[in-house]
Amino acid sequence: MHRTKIRVAEDALDANQTIARANREDFDRAGVAVVNLMSAPGAGKTTLLERAIEGLDGLRVGVLEGDVQGSIDADRIAHLHVPVTQLNTDPGFGGECHLDANMVRSALPEVPLAEIDLLAIENVGNLVCPAEFRVGEDARAMVCAVTEGEDKPLKYPLMFRTCELIVVNKTDLLPHLEFDLDRLLANIETVNPTAEVLTTSARSGEGVEAWREWLAGVAGRRAAA
Ligand code: MG
Ligand code: ZN
Repeated sequence: MHRTKIRVAEDALDANQTIARANREDFDRAGVAVVNLMSAPGAGKTTLLERAIEGLDGLRVGVLEGDVQGSIDADRIAHLHVPVTQLNTDPGFGGECHLDANMVRSALPEVPLAEIDLLAIENVGNLVCPAEFRVGEDARAMVCAVTEGEDKPLKYPLMFRTCELIVVNKTDLLPHLEFDLDRLLANIETVNPTAEVLTTSARSGEGVEAWREWLAGVAGRRAAA
């Protein structure tokens, strides 16, 4: 019984890989770099994207907003006059708590790939299954807010291990919290010693320039390839 379940899960991941490769080919053809941005709900993905987009001169950015329902985040991004596409997992995909390659593929006809250099995919807020599904991205980044506690890398190691960039956000709140930043950084180091780590406050602007530069760097890798 247990064994059958595992095989089904492996087949599903194989199918996901095949579709992720098809997405990848479409992104390659259009010369678009893709970042898969993940976090728990409320860590600040959308706000960090807003801050980055505001100052990204010369780089054409598009956003694919993953949410279970609604378009609250997409509406915010649309105010910045960049192409934004809403991808809801409910009703189309049973209200799934993550994006997979097939869901992203279903949205691609609405993403103006020819008009952008970088596509930021904001995944559904969740520290567990988004990490399991490649969607055809060049790079994975996650946001971890200081309000979430220092233990999160140890409790959700796959998410922290699978991202090349970990953005520690909401540092403006540190004076109000009993939060040991050094312990969080040590826990990140334990599960992912090669990750790049940025500390940011989308509110105060701390670290936002470095975050912006990282995004531009992902687009630059693609241009250089
Ligand atoms: Mg959001
Ligand atoms: Zn899920």
